[in-house]
Amino acid sequence: MAKFVYFFGEGKAEGTAKMRDILGGKGANLAEMTNLGIPVPPGFTISTEVCRIYYKTKGNYPPELKDQVEEALKRVEGVMGARFGDPSNPLLVSVRSGAPISMPGMMDTILNLGLNDETVEGLAARTNDPRFAYDCYRRFVAMYGDVVFGLKPQAKDERDPFEVILEEKKEERGVRYDHELSAEDLKEVVQAYKEEIKKRLGIEFPQDPKEQLWGAIGAVFRSWNNPRAIAYRQINEIPDDLGTAVNVQSMVFGNMGPDSGTGVVFTRNPATGENYLYGEYLMNAQGEDVVAGIRTPQPINRRQKGSSGLPSLEEEMPELYEELERYCKTLERHFRDMQDVEFTIQQRRLWILQTRTGKRTGLAAMRIAVDMVEEGLIDKEEALMRVEPDQLNQLLRPVFDQGEKKTALEEGRVLAKGLPAGPGAATGKVVFFASDAEEWAARGEEVLLVRIETSPEDIRGMNAAQGILTARGGMTSHAALVARQMGKVCVVGCEALEIDYKGRRLRVNGHVVKEGDYLSIDGTTGEVILGKIRTRPSEIIQVLIERTLRPEDSQIFQIYDRLMKWADEVRRLGVRTNADRPDQAAIALAFGAEGIGLCRTEHMFFEGDRIDAMREMIVAEDRPSREQALEKLQPMQKEDFKGIFKVMGELPVTIRTLDPPLHEFLPHTDKEIEELAGKMGISPEELKAKVRALEEANPMLGHRGCRLGIVYPEITAMQARAIFEAACEVKKEEGVEVHPEVMIPLVGNVKELEDQRAVVEEVAQEVFDRYGVEVDYKVGTMIEVPRGALTADEVARQAEFFSFGTNDLTQTTFGISRDDAGKFLRAYLEKGIWDFDPFVRLDRKGVGQLMEIAVKKGKTTRPGLKTGICGEHGGEPSSVEFCHQIGLDYVSCSPFRIPIARLAAAQAAIREKRG
Ligand code: ADP
Ligand code: MG
Ligand code: MG
Repeated sequence: MAKFVYFFGEGKAEGTAKMRDILGGKGANLAEMTNLGIPVPPGFTISTEVCRIYYKTKGNYPPELKDQVEEALKRVEGVMGARFGDPSNPLLVSVRSGAPISMPGMMDTILNLGLNDETVEGLAARTNDPRFAYDCYRRFVAMYGDVVFGLKPQAKDERDPFEVILEEKKEERGVRYDHELSAEDLKEVVQAYKEEIKKRLGIEFPQDPKEQLWGAIGAVFRSWNNPRAIAYRQINEIPDDLGTAVNVQSMVFGNMGPDSGTGVVFTRNPATGENYLYGEYLMNAQGEDVVAGIRTPQPINRRQKGSSGLPSLEEEMPELYEELERYCKTLERHFRDMQDVEFTIQQRRLWILQTRTGKRTGLAAMRIAVDMVEEGLIDKEEALMRVEPDQLNQLLRPVFDQGEKKTALEEGRVLAKGLPAGPGAATGKVVFFASDAEEWAARGEEVLLVRIETSPEDIRGMNAAQGILTARGGMTSHAALVARQMGKVCVVGCEALEIDYKGRRLRVNGHVVKEGDYLSIDGTTGEVILGKIRTRPSEIIQVLIERTLRPEDSQIFQIYDRLMKWADEVRRLGVRTNADRPDQAAIALAFGAEGIGLCRTEHMFFEGDRIDAMREMIVAEDRPSREQALEKLQPMQKEDFKGIFKVMGELPVTIRTLDPPLHEFLPHTDKEIEELAGKMGISPEELKAKVRALEEANPMLGHRGCRLGIVYPEITAMQARAIFEAACEVKKEEGVEVHPEVMIPLVGNVKELEDQRAVVEEVAQEVFDRYGVEVDYKVGTMIEVPRGALTADEVARQAEFFSFGTNDLTQTTFGISRDDAGKFLRAYLEKGIWDFDPFVRLDRKGVGQLMEIAVKKGKTTRPGLKTGICGEHGGEPSSVEFCHQIGLDYVSCSPFRIPIARLAAAQAAIREKRG
C-alpha cells in the first residue's frame, strides 16, 4: 500500500532530512531533528504526493489517506497522553504547510486546531488558565477564518475582519497589547469572530475537530496556489508542480504565561555572517507573533542587545539559552550550514519547531562560507557553491557618503533609527502600498516602500522598491527575511514611525513625510534620513578601483578576495570584459578581467566633436569625400586604441568593427540638422534628404554590421589602420606585445567574412611594413545570426575565433526586437510562455542550441578555434554555466559583473565535477 503519512515523535521518525521531495523541507527536518534527539513536539507529515494527487483529481485524496491519518493521529495521542476532541483533555495540533523548497511565510499555517466550545473549557480547566485557553481559541478561529474560509483582506485598504474586532476590543478595554485582554474579553472576541463568519458566509464555525482537521489540510494544499505563493515561485523560479506537504503536529504553547514564549534564532548573524547566535523572541506569545511584528521582540543575547534596552533571553533564562545554543550548534554541525531555527518555550521547557538553512545577505553568505572552511566544516569548493553569484552585487553596492550623512545629522534630518536588516544605502520616493511601489517603479521612479509591517502579499512591491522600511518587527520579521533574500536594502522595527495609510503620510519625531517625498535609509546602520543622500562606492570598490582604502583595512575585501582566488583556482572558463574605454578597461582589470572580449568602436564616435567628422563621413556623396572624413576620424580612433592597449598590456583585446546602422549617428531634429548643415556647408534640405535616404524600415535587420564594411570597405580599412598603428606604436613605445583581435560583426555567410578579412589583412601588412614591426593579431567574427551558426564550418575557414553576440543572436533566433519586447514581455512571463526573459538569461534550448552547433561545426574545420561570448548574458550565472558546458574558452561581460562571472564559472566547473 502506498505510504502517504510519516510519523515523527519520541526520538524516532519515519522520515529523514533526505526526503525533502516527499516530506517537504519542514517535514524532512522535523524528522531529522527528532532522530537527532532534539525535543520536537510529535506529529506526522502528509506527503507532497497527496498534494499532487489533490490537484490532479481536482480536490480529492487518495482513498488510503484517511486511515493513515487516523492511525498517525492515534500515535500522537498516545505520546501526548491527550485525545483529539476530548473535552476534558484535548490534544491540539498545528497544521503546517512545507514545500520541498522553502517558501517562508508564503503558505498558511493554522495553530491550536482541535478547539471548540467544549474543549476550550477543558483546556482552561486543565491548565487552570482560562485566559490562555481563550487566547488559543481566538487565534485558532481567526486563522481558520483567514485560511480555510478565505476571509483575508483582498484589497489594500481593507483590513482583516478579525483584527478589526480585536482592535475594537482592545480600545474598549483601553489596553495596547493582545495579552492584556482578560479571559472574558477573549471569550467575547471568539463570539464576535464566530458571528462575523456567520454574517459573511452564513455558516457556523465547525465544532467537530475532525472536520476542522480536514478543512485545514485541504486549505494548506489550496494555499500552494494562492496568488502570493505563485508570485513567490515566479520570482524565485520554483517549479509549480512540486506541491506542498502538510505537517500535523501537537501544539506546544508559548502563550502560557510569563515563563513561556516563542522565538526565531539564526545560528549566525544573517546580515553580517558573524559567528554568534542571532535572534529574537517574545514572551507570552505564539506562532507568528515574532515574525509578524506585532510587538518589537527582545534580543536573544547580550551581544545583540544594542539600543533596544530590552532584556535578552541569555539574561532572563540563562540555562534555557544555553540549551538553545547547544541545539543550534548540533544543528549547524549536522547540516554544515547556518540554520534558521524556530523555538517555543512552554513554561520554561524548550521545544524546537523548525530548522532550515538560513537566508542571508551576500556579505553574510561570503563570510559564513569562508569561515566554515576555516572551521573545517566545509571545503573550498563547497564554500564556492554557497554564495549565489548574483549576491556579489550587494557587495559592490554603494554606501552613503559619510560627509553628507554627517551634514544630514547636523541638520536634524536623521529622523529615527530602526534595525539594520539589509545592508546598503537606498534613497527613493516614499510609497505606502506594495501595489504603488510596483506601479511607480514600472514608470521609472525610485521608490522606498514604507509599511507598518510587510506580509507575503507585498512581495512584488518589495521587489520593485529600492529599499524597505517598516515600523514594526525585528530582524526575523517578514520584511527582514524577504529583504535578505532579495538582497534589498532594509530597515525594520523603526518604532518612531507613525504611519497613516489613509492619509498616505507618516509622522516621525515631529516631521511629516508624505507619499512621494524623498527618504533615505541606511541598511547597515538602521538610520532613516529625510531627503536624498549621496552615495559612495562600496569598500571593495574603494580598495580595488579608487584605491582609497587599503586591503588590510577592509575585512569585507579580504573575504571577497579569498573567495575569488578560490574561484580562480577551479574555473576553466576565462573571464573577459566588454569595455570601450581605457578607464572601463582599468576597472575591469581590477575586477580580474583577463582580456577584452568586446570593444565597441562606435561609442568612440559620439565623444566631443568627433560626431561631426562621423556625420560628414556618412553623408559623403562619393568615396574620395568619405575617405577625407575618415582620415579625420582615424587619428582619434588610433588614440583610443592606444589608450586601451596600454591598459590591457599583453592581454587580448577584441575590437569589433563598426556595427550599428549609420542612421543612428545622424541628427534628427530640425535644429540639429540646421547646425550640422551649416558646419558642412550644405543646405538643410540637402542634409534632410540624406537623412531620409538613410532611414530604414527595420534598422535592426538593415544596413549594419559587416554589411557596412562590405559596401564601404574604406570604413573597415580606416578602423584596421587605427588598430594596427596603435598596436605597433604601443609595441615600439612601451615594448609591450599587444594582442588585437579584429572582430567582424553580423556574419551569416563565409564570403562576408572573407571580404572583410582581406581588407583587414591588407591594411595590417601595409602598417607593419611602414612601422617595421609586426604584432600578433587574429581576425574572427561574431556569431549573431542563425545562418552564421548553422554554416559555422564554412565560417571557421576564415575565422580564427567566434564570439557569440547573444543579444543579437537572441533577437534573430526569436525574431524579436529587444527594444520592442517590453510590450509583451510581461504577458509572456505571466502566462508562463517564457519562464524567464531570454534577453537576460540565455535560452539554452533555442539560442543555446545554435551556439552548440556553431562550436561543434566550427571546430571540425579549425580545431584550435577560440570561442567566447560577448552578449549581455556573459555575466549572468546560468548563461555562464551553459557557456562552460558547451566548452567555450571565455565569457565577456561588463566590468561590474566580472566577479559574478568568475564565481559562476567556478560553480559550473564544480557542478560538472560533481556530476
Ligand atoms: P511558516 O512556514 O510560515 O514558517 P510554520 O508552519 O513554521 O509556518 O508555523 C507558523 C508559526 O507557528 C511558527 O512560528 C511556528 O513555530 C509556529 N508553530 C507551528 N506549529 C506549532 C506547534 N505545533 N506548536 C507551537 N507553535 C507552532
Ligand atoms: Mg516556520
Ligand atoms: Mg550585435
